[in-house]
Amino acid sequence: MTASPSIAAPRSAAPPPATPVGVGRFPTVRPRRLRSSEPMRQLVRETTLDAGDFIYPLFVAEGAATDRPVGAMPGVTQWTLRSLPAEVESIAALGIPGVILFGLPAEKDAVGSGAWASEGIIQQATRAIKRAVPELLVIADLCLCEYTSHGHCGVLRDGQVANDETLPLLAQTAVSQAEAGADIIAPSDMMDGRVGAIRGALDAAGLSAVPILSYAAKYASAFYGPFREAAQSAPQFGDRRSYQMDPGNAREALREVEQDLAEGADMIMVKPALAYLDIIARVRAATTVPLAAYNVSGEYAMVKAAAANGWIDERRLTLELLTGIKRAGADVIISYHAKDVCGWLCARVERHNDPVGASDGW
Ligand SMILES: [Zn+2]
Repeated sequence: MTASPSIAAPRSAAPPPATPVGVGRFPTVRPRRLRSSEPMRQLVRETTLDAGDFIYPLFVAEGAATDRPVGAMPGVTQWTLRSLPAEVESIAALGIPGVILFGLPAEKDAVGSGAWASEGIIQQATRAIKRAVPELLVIADLCLCEYTSHGHCGVLRDGQVANDETLPLLAQTAVSQAEAGADIIAPSDMMDGRVGAIRGALDAAGLSAVPILSYAAKYASAFYGPFREAAQSAPQFGDRRSYQMDPGNAREALREVEQDLAEGADMIMVKPALAYLDIIARVRAATTVPLAAYNVSGEYAMVKAAAANGWIDERRLTLELLTGIKRAGADVIISYHAKDVCGWLCARVERHNDPVGASDGW
């Protein structure tokens, strides 16, 4: 008769490798049990989208006679000051808590003085939104590239963007935007030291209650292509790789985030989102502040183009992408899809007899 293995094994033998809890016990364990119906899946779903997660980007053109659709971004429009109130009312009606504003000035100059003009397009647009829907959050994108004749994000010195000379202009712009009523200031320029400069200027102007959402990890990305048409902000020479981050770097993103938080950022952003989900996850794990992800123009345009060709199910694919961004760790999603998604979410809530998207799995 053969001894059982436990008795026969010498006392010095290594213990068998531990089996992870819940793994390898088929047929007792069957994960499919919790996927059997939509209510069951809903019950155990770890990540869900809510209208309150979203910020919708808005482009407002100064002096434009009519609204202009953006060709590479179907559904996105350059609004006029006249059409803006109706647009923000419809955004608020979808339950979207805020917008991020990009201005297209009528005129540009070498230093971007339209950015901090009290009658600048962002300042006028902010006041118009606050008159129309006071509770809608206005996030003012803060950069000079839409206002400079050369299209770079700071002032130029010998053909280079001069970091330290740009900081006072950014700070002045932040104060002007906040005085116009912006609820959050979002610097996107990627100059070193800008968060500290902006915080200091806001505080000195009695605007210490206005938070800063810094574009902390903003990569030099080909995904911004359609935005440059929308915001008319393409650099007239060179590119932005001397100030935006290199796509190969992840540790550097943590360093940028750490620096911005040390300078007083209240919230931070990773941009773009979809090719940078690992960065979102790493930043989420390394910090406790609210984290935004910018689902950028090229990410949006690819979905719209594939949908227009009938190659994908636009609704399911959009929801899957945005769920992925949230699952990676984003608390706030800035997306051109926000109106579509929040419309779908509203419709779902109203469909009392259709248990949470039973028809389409969402
Ligand atoms: Zn810029």
